[in-house]
Amino acid sequence: MQHDLLIENGTVIDGTGAAPFTADIAVQGGLITAIGRTPGELAGTARETIDARGAWVTPGFIDIHTHYDGQATWDDSFSPSIHHGVTTVVMGNCGVGFAPVRPGREDDLVKLMEGVEDIPGAALHEGIRWNWESFPQYMDALAATPRSLDYLVQVPHDPLRMYVMGERAVAQQAATAEDIDDMRALLREALHAGAAGFSTGRSDNHRTSEGRETPASEASAAELAGIVSAFDGLNHGVVQCVSDFDLLRGAEHFDREFALIEQVARACGRPLSMTWLQRDPGAEQYIAIRDRVEACVAQGLPLYLQTAARGIGVIIGLDASFHPFMGFPGYKEVAHLPLAERAAALREPARKARILGEKSERLAGDGTAIPPLVDLLLARIDMISGRMFPLGPMPDYEPSVMQSFLVRAKQGGISPMAALYDHLAGGDGDHLIYFPIFNYNAGSLDVLGEMLRHPRALAGLSDAGAHVGTVCDASFTTFMLTHWARDRKEGRLAVETVVRMLTQRNADYLGLKDRGTLKVGLRADFNLIDPSELGVGAPRLVADLPAGGKRFLQKATGYRGTWVAGQAVQRDGTVTGARPGTLVRMGH
Ligand SMILES: [Zn+2]
Repeated sequence: MQHDLLIENGTVIDGTGAAPFTADIAVQGGLITAIGRTPGELAGTARETIDARGAWVTPGFIDIHTHYDGQATWDDSFSPSIHHGVTTVVMGNCGVGFAPVRPGREDDLVKLMEGVEDIPGAALHEGIRWNWESFPQYMDALAATPRSLDYLVQVPHDPLRMYVMGERAVAQQAATAEDIDDMRALLREALHAGAAGFSTGRSDNHRTSEGRETPASEASAAELAGIVSAFDGLNHGVVQCVSDFDLLRGAEHFDREFALIEQVARACGRPLSMTWLQRDPGAEQYIAIRDRVEACVAQGLPLYLQTAARGIGVIIGLDASFHPFMGFPGYKEVAHLPLAERAAALREPARKARILGEKSERLAGDGTAIPPLVDLLLARIDMISGRMFPLGPMPDYEPSVMQSFLVRAKQGGISPMAALYDHLAGGDGDHLIYFPIFNYNAGSLDVLGEMLRHPRALAGLSDAGAHVGTVCDASFTTFMLTHWARDRKEGRLAVETVVRMLTQRNADYLGLKDRGTLKVGLRADFNLIDPSELGVGAPRLVADLPAGGKRFLQKATGYRGTWVAGQAVQRDGTVTGARPGTLVRMGH
């Protein structure tokens, strides 16, 4: 018995983009030790054999864009990613995170994460132990706990700036040459300890929970180029950047912003990826971004486009982070009731008539994006309800306008607000509404399909671990397989193309040479998937965060198992006790 495990007769989709083939895969000591393409070749050579007839065997998926920085300190299983075939996650994206931190200034980082990523501050306060100051100490603190999945950390710009510049960072003052030197030295120290890169956030939409712009959102080209010169002479590391390219300020600002990113890419010489969305307003901006990236790539700059799997938006529900009625006096009277009772109270005809006749009070500005979003929604509900859809037990992420609340209202001879109200007040109050804000301008995912086909596109933007009360896109890996490879009527992608995007392409971007494909000698990170059963479940709110905080969780069907370094971390949807995952220290 020279192998620990043999996966027999599976349909192997090996991550390279090659056509699926039938083979046996043997595992020993956490590595793939043999691949037999002749039936029965490896039979009887392992202590445990799994019959994989009819099932796909894929490499473990790599999620390059998560915000598990907080959750990782209290949850060792990385849920919900573990339910979606993910075996490696990258955190520290968009410039926000929890290290480095000066003792006593932890609260500043909590407010930043709470505001930018919609993670409840109370959960972060109660959940995080803060037994670090420097970034390498944070890495050591994480690495002290064994976990289900492997993970990589990037150094986020905002904490770095706040650590070095204190109040001047928060006031968005320009960094001095000395500040830049200090930030570069700290990044260098973290990269030496194995950090996977550096991230920065330049979005006008990102605010701290006090409504302030994020500290690094207006950082100059000199600051960024100075910091990333920390990569000089190193053979690892990536730069991740989110910018809205000053969307509303015109073409000249777009050019200036893109030129800055280009300058950063030139200064670091490492792969740089940026968020790629079809925004609204600004539906054509994604074309301008693509053209500039293509021009840079033609000059040899390693730029990449992080692309979502579906429309990015918010999930609306009575217990979610927001819904349109949260500011209505008649709603506020019953807001304290348990969910099912609240829904019943909302269905009382007198209350319903009263609320629908009221106006929303201004929501107390909590600084997050929620109050402006609710304002916008209410001001333009006739139009926006054309892009709001019921999200049922079998979630449809590419609904037609005919399913929208606007059409529902017209058909029922009621107002869009009444149609939304009836839906939210239905059942036990757990009915949800899907409102895709980005990538859905024309009411379909056709544009996204075009983006996913781009050679510089990286499957990403799950934001797993963040936006916990409005989004649950950690399931994007499963959705890529069900929607883009199997269910979509037109414009499907080959399953081997989708698997390659979720595995080898992301591994190559990060410089991970030990995973991403199924080859002898590589890590035994893989999934066993029943394609006929594969599905994305409905998101549901659970109160399992520290301090009783709520978050959306979304599970999947069809994953017979997920193995990390040869150990099953998930079987048939149930997390096992195995904790083979560790911090991946790049360059070590
Ligand atoms: Zn992000």
